[in-house]
This record gives sequence, C-alpha cells and structure tokens, in this order.
Amino acid sequence: MDAGVFRAWIRSAAEVIEANRDRLTQLDAAIGDADHGVNLSRGFSAVLGALETAAPGTPGAILTLTGSTLISKVGGASGPLYGTAFRRAGRALGDAADVGLPALAAALEAALAGVQQLGAAREGDKTMVDALAPATKAFSTAVAEGAPPRAALDALAEAAAAGATGTIPMQALKGRASYLGPRSVGHEDPGAASTALILGALPPLLPPSLPAGADDDGTLSRNGGIRRDRGREGPPRRRRGRRRGGRR
Ligand SMILES: [Mg+2]
Repeated sequence: MDAGVFRAWIRSAAEVIEANRDRLTQLDAAIGDADHGVNLSRGFSAVLGALETAAPGTPGAILTLTGSTLISKVGGASGPLYGTAFRRAGRALGDAADVGLPALAAALEAALAGVQQLGAAREGDKTMVDALAPATKAFSTAVAEGAPPRAALDALAEAAAAGATGTIPMQALKGRASYLGPRSVGHEDPGAASTALILGALPPLLPPSLPAGADDDGTLSRNGGIRRDRGREGPPRRRRGRRRGGRR
C-alpha cells in the first residue's frame, strides 16, 4: 500500500466522519458533551487541507501529518488521542514508500499502545480502545495467518465495528462518560463508534479478495463462477445474459 492508498484512506475517513457527524454528536450527547461529531468533522477537514498543502509523499508522513493536525484542531480528549494514534502509526511506518501488511499491523499496535498510554484506558472501560484493541488484534492475527490484504482489512473493520457495538452494555470507567456511572450503560461510546468508522474506511480501498472462479471485475459469473473460454483478444466482450435479454 503506497501513499496513494493512505491519502485515499484519510479522504474516505473524512467523508464518513462528515456523513456521520450528527450521529456521533448524538452519541456524545447521551453520555458526554455533544461535540464529538462536530469536533472530528472539523479536525478531518483541517487534515484534508493540510495534506493538500504539504503533500507528504510517504504513508508514514501522511499519518504523522494527520495526527499533528488532529491534535492542533480537535479539542477535548479525542484530538490528543486520535492525534497520538495517527502519529505513532506514522512513526512506526518510517520512510517506507510502500507498506505491507506486517508493517501496517505493527503501526496499528503502536497506535493502540500510544492511545492506551495517553488515556490509561483498558478494554472494557467503554472508550475507543474497545474498538481499536480488538481490531488491531484481529488484523495482526489475520496477517500472521497469511490472509490476503482485503480479507485482513475486512477482519480489522469487522472487529472494530463489533467492538464499538459491544460498548453499548458497558458502564464507562474512563472519560467524561464515567461521571454518569451506571447511567452510561445502554449507549454506544462515541469514540469507539468513530474509531470503527475510520478503520471501516480502509478495506473498500482495496479490491475484494477474489473467490476462486470470480470474474475479472470481482463478481461471480452467472454459471457459478466457472469461466467459459472467452477470447482475450478481439473486441470487448459482453455478458452473455445481457445480450440475450436486451435484443431489440
Ligand atoms: Mg465530547
């Protein structure tokens, strides 16, 4: 994964945060101070501007600039926490022009360690760690087992989403929501929710891992994935079924 993939990830994360701005703010209104969506949305739009201006050329530099910008633009706890996560990940990637799965796994581990160090939160405290920790673990496991890139990233995103949903029955032990005590139960943690959104923006950037017999465009052909012998040279091929049905 090169700088283009990482730039696309941050752009896509900014879009999904923007699209979920009100939802995140509502989650924060239930157990916090109702600013998470607005804060992150402002932060990520500043990140897009910074990436445009500085045009960092490596994955590590992109993540580091993302983190620094979030720290300077996002107030409360989430700016420093997300900023630290991205900066630690960026530092872990170093100057590499292309990042493989093991390097990305190490960067996520570094991000998680930074967040836990700064926030002193553990899994089960109802924070972003409850999305980031299982996601990191699932990704590292998938990579260690030799999963293809898209499958490993899908595992990352799915574990983050499940982790975020899993905060609903928890009582908050860290952060502003912990002031509510038992009244924090029954609400999804906004930081875990935004973490799941940001990590969820990553897998769609890679082509799906093709199942055996998949067609060129990643969809299974109609005869159950068994490829017909079609001439690869010659005029652009058409779908058999479509031609049959669409004759005028
Ligand atoms: Mg807040």
